[in-house]
Amino acid sequence: MQTRAVKEGDEYVVNGSKIWTTLGNYADHMILLARTNTKTERKYDGLSFFLSPMKVAGIEAHPIRKVTGEYGFNQTFFTDARIPASCLMGEEGGGWTVAMKTLEYERGVTAGQASAYWGVAVQVDDMIDELSAIEQDGEPLLSDPIVRDDLVGFMMEAKALSLAARRMAIPALGTDYPMGLALSVKYRGTEYERRMKQYTASKQGAQSALYVGDDDAVSGGFWQRAYFSNFGATIGGGTTQVQANIVAEHVLGLPK
Ligand SMILES: Cc1cc2nc3c(=O)[nH]c(=O)nc-3n(C[C@H](O)[C@H](O)[C@H](O)COP(=O)(O)OP(=O)(O)OC[C@H]3O[C@@H](n4cnc5c(N)ncnc54)[C@H](O)[C@@H]3O)c2cc1C
Repeated sequence: MQTRAVKEGDEYVVNGSKIWTTLGNYADHMILLARTNTKTERKYDGLSFFLSPMKVAGIEAHPIRKVTGEYGFNQTFFTDARIPASCLMGEEGGGWTVAMKTLEYERGVTAGQASAYWGVAVQVDDMIDELSAIEQDGEPLLSDPIVRDDLVGFMMEAKALSLAARRMAIPALGTDYPMGLALSVKYRGTEYERRMKQYTASKQGAQSALYVGDDDAVSGGFWQRAYFSNFGATIGGGTTQVQANIVAEHVLGLPK
């Protein structure tokens, strides 16, 4: 957190950079957490939370190419960028608390996307469709009892995630730690999807190494791209490991 915002009259002058802003090159506004005080004892203090306009002189968003070959996020640079002081949300120096609350809700949204019925169940059906076209040693892949067992495991997990997503919508189940269920569903759902896509691609045998753009890629490389893309979901809004730490410490009350 080295990006600085210095108050001058009714503006803040911002210098620094911020990486991984999704669709930042299209956005009109962004969440900006910047250091307004460099002399605090705790690194969490002295940060301020702004809802900053992006179409301002001195703010430039540079798109970054992802492992999938597509563009999606940006690094944003601030060079003497002047933003109105009215963009400050909450108290100056109290931005960490606002940021953590905002992140909780982002994780809740990601959990919803990762686990909602349409999100997971449709993909389980897609996976079965894809695998039903594959043969192994002259037999349909789906006649292999080990593969069938794996698929039942994926279907049960999809169902459990879908039910957990519905439970998230019931406030009475979240009184102890309101976002607890969403936090756990975020990391379980995104990791589940990553494993499921990896499994499907791996059953294509040697062709699983072929990617989008290769004429011989199975289904145009759809599963490979979906698999790579899913890593983003396990990282964005808080990595799997960090989510697991938060659930362990703040929801289950386990020691650090
Ligand atoms: C698709 C995508 C979209 C994103 N969109 C946005 C966006 O719109 N806006 C935005 O601000 N950011 C966005 N991000 C950034 C995202 O929030 C961060 O990448 C994420 O929080 C991880 O932080 P980091 O990259 O600094 O990784 P680090 O914190 O450096 O983590 C690196 C590794 O160390 C592990 N690690 C770190 N701390 C711990 C710990 N305490 N215990 C155990 N393991 C640990 C992590 O799990 C990870 O494996 C996006 C990221 C992705 C992938």
